[in-house]
Amino acid sequence: MKKGYISEIFSSLQGEGIYQSVRQIFIRFSGCNLNCEYCDTPESRVKSVKCKVKGENQEITNPISVENLVSVLSNHFPPPASYSPERVHSVSLTGGEPLLQVNFLEKLLPALKKLGLKIYLETNGTLPKALEKIVDLIDYIAMDIKLPSATGKDLFSEHSDFLQISKKRLQVTSYPPAGATRLPERSGGQERRTGRLQVKIVLTNKTLEEEIEKSINLIKKIDKKIPLVLQPVTSVNGIIPPERKKILSWCNLAKKNLSDVQIISQKHKLWGIK
Ligand code: SF4
Repeated sequence: MKKGYISEIFSSLQGEGIYQSVRQIFIRFSGCNLNCEYCDTPESRVKSVKCKVKGENQEITNPISVENLVSVLSNHFPPPASYSPERVHSVSLTGGEPLLQVNFLEKLLPALKKLGLKIYLETNGTLPKALEKIVDLIDYIAMDIKLPSATGKDLFSEHSDFLQISKKRLQVTSYPPAGATRLPERSGGQERRTGRLQVKIVLTNKTLEEEIEKSINLIKKIDKKIPLVLQPVTSVNGIIPPERKKILSWCNLAKKNLSDVQIISQKHKLWGIK
């Protein structure tokens, strides 16, 4: 596929995980292979006809060529000369599921890199074969473990393969690095974490203890230093987070087995931004 289906392009702060609050340009891909019960971007699950360009009240028609996408970024977001780490941490490929359009990504990613942008992939972690094709072009991976209680599917085997491939490419260092004290927070989008690969699990009131145990074991088998983020769901469609004592107990269980475990909730709605 030489062209891609994108549902929106905008600039905002990362609202999830260990890179929370860094400035990013978001490219939201259309289409998804899952149907999570807590999905907060249902419109991006199907291929959209139009792509919204935020801040400009503009729409462009799908599918979009690499050249067109690069020109939109250059015209509507900070120009290439400004893609310094202080101003823009990275471009977040999000969705939907970006890896469903891996043939397009194979062409798009070198063009984004030419602009000086780092590539941050947000993924449901279920398409390892697609990841293999572009993993050398990725700088950061934020991979979800999608639990059977949320998707109706057992995807642990896919997640395991995905994490193996990700780990080969990306540095996994515990935070703070051994022997160091916790690094002070720095503004301006500079690196605050050493791990470029992170795993996130969204927790709901339907999450089962055995699913958390299986997820922890999966990560531990690959590398116990991979950061794990437990993210209590932001209430949506009647889906609510688990009781606080369950979240804490799962966090403690994870901490006994993994080096870097944090509870970090989604912040977009709290901050009142996209
Ligand atoms: S993987 Fe993401 S986009 Fe797809 S259904 Fe789940 S939450 Fe929604």
